[in-house]
Amino acid sequence: MYFAGIDVGGTNLKAGIVDEDFNLVCTASVPTNVGRDARKIIKDMADLVKTLAKDSDIALTDITSIGIGIPGVAKNGVVVALHNLFWQDVQLKSIFNEYLDIPVFIDNDATVAAVYEYHLGVLAGCKVGVFLTLGTGVGGGIIINGKAFNGAHGLGGELGHIAVVPDGLQCTCGNKGCLEVYASATALVRMGRRCVIERPDSMLGITADEDYHNVTAKMVIDVAKQGDRVAISIVDEYAKFLSIGITSIINTLDPEVIALGGGVSHAGKYLLDKVIAACDEKGVFENQKYAEIKIAKSGNDAGIIGAAMLTE
Ligand SMILES: [Zn+2]
Repeated sequence: MYFAGIDVGGTNLKAGIVDEDFNLVCTASVPTNVGRDARKIIKDMADLVKTLAKDSDIALTDITSIGIGIPGVAKNGVVVALHNLFWQDVQLKSIFNEYLDIPVFIDNDATVAAVYEYHLGVLAGCKVGVFLTLGTGVGGGIIINGKAFNGAHGLGGELGHIAVVPDGLQCTCGNKGCLEVYASATALVRMGRRCVIERPDSMLGITADEDYHNVTAKMVIDVAKQGDRVAISIVDEYAKFLSIGITSIINTLDPEVIALGGGVSHAGKYLLDKVIAACDEKGVFENQKYAEIKIAKSGNDAGIIGAAMLTE
C-alpha cells in the first residue's frame, strides 16, 4: 500500500510516493510554470505521479490516495483561492481525476505540515494540535482527533490572519493588523530595516553594512543572539506579537501543543523562550495548564510526506 503526495509551489511541483510506514520511496519535481492554463498544470501533477510509480515499479492500483498541498485555500476538492498560481475556484480534484483516477485530498500547505507533525513530529499523540509556519507569511494548520481541520469553507486554519493590532498595518488578505504582518519573517526584516536606517551605528546596522537592503530575518536573530540590544528589542517585539496570536489560538482551541515551523523557527530555543515568556507574562493562563509551545520537526520533504498523509 502506497500514498502519493504533491507539494504545489509557485516555482516547482514536487511529488513523492511513501509506503504505509510513511517512508519516502521516491521523489521528483517539475517547474510549475505559473501563468499556464490550470488544466495543464494539473495534468503535469498527474503525470508526475504516473512517472514516479513507473520508475519505482509501483502499480498505480497500489496507490491508495494522493494528497495535494497548496499555498492557498481548498475545500471539498476545489481550490477556492491560490494567489501564487492565479487560481480561483479551480476544480482541482475532478480535473486531476480525469488524468488519474485515484482518491485525491487537497489542503493548505500549513495544514499539510500539521499533518506531518502529527504523524512524525512534535504534534504526535495530540488530540488537538496546532502548527504555525513563520515564513514569508504566517500559515496555520489545525489537527483535531487525528485529522486536519479547516472549517466549513476551508478558512479554519488561516491563523496568520488573526488580527493582533486594531487598525494596524495592511495585510495582503485585505484586513489590517493581521498576525502575519507582525510575526512573519517579513515582519522581522521590516523592523530590522527600520533599525538600520535609524541606528546605522548599531551592531545590526554594521552587520548590514549600513544598507537596509541587506537585512534578513536570520541576521536580526543572529545579531540579537550576540547581544545587540537593538536587535534584542526587535525579537522581543516580534515574540510579543506572536504571543498575542498564540493566546487567541489557545483561547479558541486549547491545543496540547503549538508547533512553530518555517524559517524564523530556526532561531530555536532562543525564540521559543521569548515566546513562552511573553505568553506567561500575560498571566491569562496563570495556575492553569496550557499548550506546550515547541519548535516543529519540519524534516526534509515534509511538504510531500505530509500531503501523502492527508485523508478525508
Ligand atoms: Zn491578513
